[in-house]
Amino acid sequence: MNRVRSLLHWAGLSVRRCRACGEAAADGGRLCPSCAEMLQPDAAPRCRLCGVSLPAEAGGLCAVCAAAPPPWEALYFHGRYEGLLRELILEYKFGRNLGLGRLLMELAAGAAPAGGAWDMLVPAPLHASRLRWRGFNQSRELCRLLAKRTGAPIVDRALSRIRTAAPQSVLDKKQRLANVAGAFRADAALAAGRSVLLADDVMTTGATLSECARTLLAAGAACVEVLVLARD
Ligand SMILES: [Zn+2]
Ligand SMILES: [Zn+2]
Repeated sequence: MNRVRSLLHWAGLSVRRCRACGEAAADGGRLCPSCAEMLQPDAAPRCRLCGVSLPAEAGGLCAVCAAAPPPWEALYFHGRYEGLLRELILEYKFGRNLGLGRLLMELAAGAAPAGGAWDMLVPAPLHASRLRWRGFNQSRELCRLLAKRTGAPIVDRALSRIRTAAPQSVLDKKQRLANVAGAFRADAALAAGRSVLLADDVMTTGATLSECARTLLAAGAACVEVLVLARD
C-alpha cells in the first residue's frame, strides 16, 4: 500500500485520505463515505438547553429544563458522545493525534448556528498543571475555526480555573456540582456586558459547564451559550 501511495505521490496523483480513518475519501471530500455517514450531524428534535431528544411537538424545551433551566441560553453540539465521534475525540485528546484537530474543529464550527454572533469565545479552562501535562487545551483548539469564521476573538483569560477538582468521572451529578463549585474565576473586566460562547469538547452531566457559565454570569456576562462537540 505504501508503495502504491508513494508511486501515486511520485506521479502527482496523491489520493485524498479520509481524515477519520485514512481510507480513500470520496471525490473532493474530507471523509470516506462510511465515516461521513457515521459523523452526520444529528438532526433529531432536541431540547435547546440540554440536548435530550424530544417529540417534535414539545416545543424545544424538555420538562427538566422547563422546571430548572441551566444557566445558559442555548446548547449547540455536533452529535452524541458515542461511536466514531467518541473514538475520534479520545484519540485527539489522549493519543495526541493533532492531525484530527482540523476535522474536529470543522465539526465544532459546523455545530454552531449559521450567522451566530458572540462578543467572545471562551474555552472551558483546564487547570494549568493539566494544561502543562497534556500540552494543549483541546477546547481552545476547537474554537479556532469558529473564531476565524465569526470574527469573535478567543478570550481564554475571561475564565480561569483556580482549583483542581477531583476527576468528575467517578461522581454522580450532585457530587459533580459540589466538586466544581468555586473552581473557576471570571475576569469581570473582560466578561461584563459581553455575550459569550463557552466551548468544551464533551458535555456529560453539564456540571462543569454550569459552573463555568454561572461564574461568567456572576462576573456580569450578558448571556452565555454553550458549544460542545459531543453530548453524552
Ligand atoms: Zn473514513
Ligand atoms: Zn432540556
